[in-house]
Amino acid sequence: MGLEGLVNPRGFVMVDEHQQNKAYPNIFSIGVCIAIPPVGPTPVPVGVPKTGFMIESMVRATAHNIRALLDGRAPTHEGTWNAVCLADFGDGGFAFVAMPQIPPRNVNWASGGKWVHWGKIAFEKFFLGKVRRGVAEPFYEKMALDIMGITKSK
Ligand SMILES: Cc1cc2nc3c(=O)[nH]c(=O)nc-3n(C[C@H](O)[C@H](O)[C@H](O)COP(=O)(O)OP(=O)(O)OC[C@H]3O[C@@H](n4cnc5c(N)ncnc54)[C@H](O)[C@@H]3O)c2cc1C
Repeated sequence: MGLEGLVNPRGFVMVDEHQQNKAYPNIFSIGVCIAIPPVGPTPVPVGVPKTGFMIESMVRATAHNIRALLDGRAPTHEGTWNAVCLADFGDGGFAFVAMPQIPPRNVNWASGGKWVHWGKIAFEKFFLGKVRRGVAEPFYEKMALDIMGITKSK
Protein backbone atom coordinates (compact mmCIF):
# COMPACT_ATOMS: atom_id res chain seq x y z
CA MET A 1 0.00 0.00 0.00
CA GLY A 2 1.37 3.44 -0.91
CA LEU A 3 1.38 6.22 1.66
CA GLU A 4 -0.16 8.80 -0.72
CA GLY A 5 -3.11 10.39 1.09
CA LEU A 6 -2.44 8.42 4.27
CA VAL A 7 0.31 10.46 5.91
CA ASN A 8 1.70 13.98 5.55
CA PRO A 9 5.35 14.60 4.51
CA ARG A 10 6.44 14.20 8.16
CA GLY A 11 4.71 10.84 8.47
CA PHE A 12 1.73 11.92 10.59
CA VAL A 13 -1.55 10.18 9.73
CA MET A 14 -4.14 12.48 8.14
CA VAL A 15 -7.66 12.20 9.53
CA ASP A 16 -10.93 14.09 9.27
CA GLU A 17 -13.20 15.18 12.14
CA HIS A 18 -14.28 11.54 12.56
CA GLN A 19 -10.65 10.37 13.02
CA GLN A 20 -10.98 8.68 9.60
CA ASN A 21 -8.51 8.85 6.72
CA LYS A 22 -10.19 10.14 3.55
CA ALA A 23 -8.05 8.12 1.09
CA TYR A 24 -8.38 4.88 3.08
CA PRO A 25 -11.77 5.03 4.84
CA ASN A 26 -11.10 1.77 6.69
CA ILE A 27 -8.15 3.44 8.45
CA PHE A 28 -8.78 5.51 11.58
CA SER A 29 -6.05 7.14 13.61
CA ILE A 30 -5.78 8.57 17.11
CA GLY A 31 -3.17 10.10 19.38
CA VAL A 32 0.26 11.57 18.93
CA CYS A 33 0.65 10.04 15.45
CA ILE A 34 -2.11 12.11 13.78
CA ALA A 35 -1.46 15.23 11.72
CA ILE A 36 -2.83 18.43 13.29
CA PRO A 37 -2.06 21.66 11.41
CA PRO A 38 -0.10 24.24 13.46
CA VAL A 39 -2.25 27.02 14.92
CA GLY A 40 0.42 29.64 14.24
CA PRO A 41 4.16 30.25 13.85
CA THR A 42 6.40 29.53 16.89
CA PRO A 43 10.09 30.53 17.44
CA VAL A 44 10.95 26.83 17.82
CA PRO A 45 9.22 24.49 15.34
CA VAL A 46 7.03 22.50 17.73
CA GLY A 47 3.80 20.72 16.87
CA VAL A 48 0.37 21.22 18.39
CA PRO A 49 0.32 19.58 21.85
CA LYS A 50 -1.54 16.27 21.98
CA THR A 51 -2.60 15.27 25.47
CA GLY A 52 -4.08 12.18 27.09
CA PHE A 53 -7.66 13.27 27.75
CA MET A 54 -7.89 14.82 24.29
CA ILE A 55 -6.71 11.49 22.84
CA GLU A 56 -9.25 9.54 24.92
CA SER A 57 -11.95 11.64 23.25
CA MET A 58 -10.52 10.68 19.83
CA VAL A 59 -10.58 7.02 20.91
CA ARG A 60 -14.23 7.20 21.97
CA ALA A 61 -15.30 8.79 18.68
CA THR A 62 -13.28 6.22 16.72
CA ALA A 63 -14.84 3.26 18.56
CA HIS A 64 -18.36 4.59 17.80
CA ASN A 65 -17.42 5.33 14.18
CA ILE A 66 -15.96 1.85 13.55
CA ARG A 67 -19.20 0.41 15.00
CA ALA A 68 -21.14 2.63 12.58
CA LEU A 69 -19.06 1.37 9.62
CA LEU A 70 -19.64 -2.25 10.68
CA ASP A 71 -23.39 -1.50 10.79
CA GLY A 72 -23.27 0.03 7.28
CA ARG A 73 -23.73 3.59 8.54
CA ALA A 74 -21.56 6.67 7.93
CA PRO A 75 -19.31 7.82 10.81
CA THR A 76 -20.83 10.75 12.72
CA HIS A 77 -19.01 10.84 16.08
CA GLU A 78 -16.47 13.54 16.88
CA GLY A 79 -14.20 13.78 19.91
CA THR A 80 -14.30 17.00 21.91
CA TRP A 81 -10.47 17.27 21.99
CA ASN A 82 -10.85 18.73 25.50
CA ALA A 83 -7.70 18.78 27.64
CA VAL A 84 -7.20 18.22 31.37
CA CYS A 85 -3.57 18.22 32.48
CA LEU A 86 -1.61 17.83 35.69
CA ALA A 87 2.05 18.71 35.05
CA ASP A 88 4.14 17.54 38.01
CA PHE A 89 7.34 19.54 38.62
CA GLY A 90 8.55 17.32 41.48
CA ASP A 91 7.68 19.54 44.44
CA GLY A 92 4.91 21.60 42.84
CA GLY A 93 3.17 21.65 39.53
CA PHE A 94 0.79 23.20 37.11
CA ALA A 95 -2.75 22.19 36.14
CA PHE A 96 -4.96 23.31 33.31
CA VAL A 97 -8.31 22.67 31.68
CA ALA A 98 -8.56 23.76 28.04
CA MET A 99 -11.82 23.10 26.24
CA PRO A 100 -11.20 22.46 23.48
CA GLN A 101 -7.41 22.21 23.59
CA ILE A 102 -6.99 23.98 20.25
CA PRO A 103 -8.27 27.60 20.38
CA PRO A 104 -10.76 29.25 20.18
CA ARG A 105 -11.69 27.85 23.61
CA ASN A 106 -14.85 27.84 25.69
CA VAL A 107 -12.92 27.16 28.91
CA ASN A 108 -9.40 28.33 29.69
CA TRP A 109 -8.43 27.55 33.31
CA ALA A 110 -5.00 27.14 34.88
CA SER A 111 -3.61 26.90 38.39
CA GLY A 112 -0.38 25.89 40.09
CA GLY A 113 1.02 24.83 43.44
CA LYS A 114 2.02 21.93 45.65
CA TRP A 115 -1.45 20.41 45.34
CA VAL A 116 -0.71 19.51 41.71
CA HIS A 117 2.27 17.37 42.78
CA TRP A 118 0.13 15.45 45.30
CA GLY A 119 -2.77 15.39 42.86
CA LYS A 120 -0.61 13.76 40.19
CA ILE A 121 0.59 11.09 42.64
CA ALA A 122 -3.02 10.36 43.62
CA PHE A 123 -4.08 10.31 39.96
CA GLU A 124 -1.28 7.87 39.09
CA LYS A 125 -2.47 5.42 41.75
CA PHE A 126 -6.09 5.86 40.62
CA PHE A 127 -5.17 5.41 36.94
CA LEU A 128 -3.00 2.32 37.46
CA GLY A 129 -5.77 0.84 39.63
CA LYS A 130 -8.19 1.29 36.73
CA VAL A 131 -5.76 -0.32 34.28
CA ARG A 132 -5.25 -3.32 36.60
CA ARG A 133 -9.02 -3.78 36.95
CA GLY A 134 -9.58 -3.24 33.20
CA VAL A 135 -12.05 -0.41 33.83
CA ALA A 136 -11.52 2.47 31.42
CA GLU A 137 -13.98 4.89 32.97
CA PRO A 138 -15.75 4.08 36.27
CA PHE A 139 -19.22 5.63 36.58
CA TYR A 140 -18.07 8.01 39.37
CA GLU A 141 -15.27 9.39 37.15
CA LYS A 142 -17.71 9.98 34.29
CA MET A 143 -20.23 11.55 36.68
CA ALA A 144 -17.63 13.91 38.21
CA LEU A 145 -16.34 14.98 34.78
CA ASP A 146 -19.89 15.41 33.43
CA ILE A 147 -20.76 17.66 36.39
CA MET A 148 -17.72 19.81 35.55
CA GLY A 149 -18.75 19.80 31.87
CA ILE A 150 -15.53 18.02 30.82
CA THR A 151 -16.77 15.60 28.19
CA LYS A 152 -15.23 13.31 25.57
CA SER A 153 -18.08 13.20 23.02
CA LYS A 154 -19.49 16.15 21.13
C1 LIG B 1 5.59 13.48 31.53
C2 LIG B 1 4.26 13.56 30.81
C3 LIG B 1 3.14 14.04 31.49
C4 LIG B 1 1.91 14.11 30.87
N1 LIG B 1 0.81 14.55 31.56
C5 LIG B 1 -0.39 14.59 30.97
C6 LIG B 1 -1.55 15.00 31.70
O1 LIG B 1 -1.51 15.34 32.87
N2 LIG B 1 -2.73 15.01 31.05
C7 LIG B 1 -2.83 14.65 29.75
O2 LIG B 1 -3.94 14.70 29.22
N3 LIG B 1 -1.75 14.25 29.01
C8 LIG B 1 -0.53 14.21 29.60
N4 LIG B 1 0.57 13.80 28.90
C9 LIG B 1 0.44 13.46 27.48
C10 LIG B 1 -0.10 12.05 27.27
O3 LIG B 1 0.59 11.16 28.11
C11 LIG B 1 0.12 11.66 25.82
O4 LIG B 1 -0.47 12.65 25.00
C12 LIG B 1 -0.54 10.32 25.50
O5 LIG B 1 -0.03 9.31 26.32
C13 LIG B 1 -0.28 9.96 24.06
O6 LIG B 1 -1.03 8.80 23.78
P1 LIG B 1 -0.74 7.94 22.50
O7 LIG B 1 -1.59 6.72 22.65
O8 LIG B 1 -0.87 8.75 21.27
O9 LIG B 1 0.81 7.57 22.58
P2 LIG B 1 1.62 6.76 23.75
O10 LIG B 1 0.88 6.82 25.07
O11 LIG B 1 2.99 7.28 23.64
O12 LIG B 1 1.51 5.29 23.22
C14 LIG B 1 2.26 4.83 22.11
C15 LIG B 1 2.60 3.37 22.40
O13 LIG B 1 3.14 2.80 21.20
C16 LIG B 1 4.23 1.99 21.58
N5 LIG B 1 5.10 1.86 20.38
C17 LIG B 1 5.90 2.78 19.83
N6 LIG B 1 6.53 2.29 18.75
C18 LIG B 1 6.07 1.03 18.61
C19 LIG B 1 6.34 0.00 17.66
N7 LIG B 1 7.18 0.17 16.63
N8 LIG B 1 5.69 -1.17 17.81
C20 LIG B 1 4.81 -1.37 18.84
N9 LIG B 1 4.53 -0.43 19.76
C21 LIG B 1 5.16 0.75 19.64
C22 LIG B 1 4.89 2.70 22.74
O14 LIG B 1 5.66 1.83 23.53
C23 LIG B 1 3.65 3.20 23.51
O15 LIG B 1 3.16 2.24 24.43
C24 LIG B 1 1.80 13.71 29.52
C25 LIG B 1 2.93 13.24 28.83
C26 LIG B 1 4.15 13.15 29.46
C27 LIG B 1 5.35 12.62 28.70
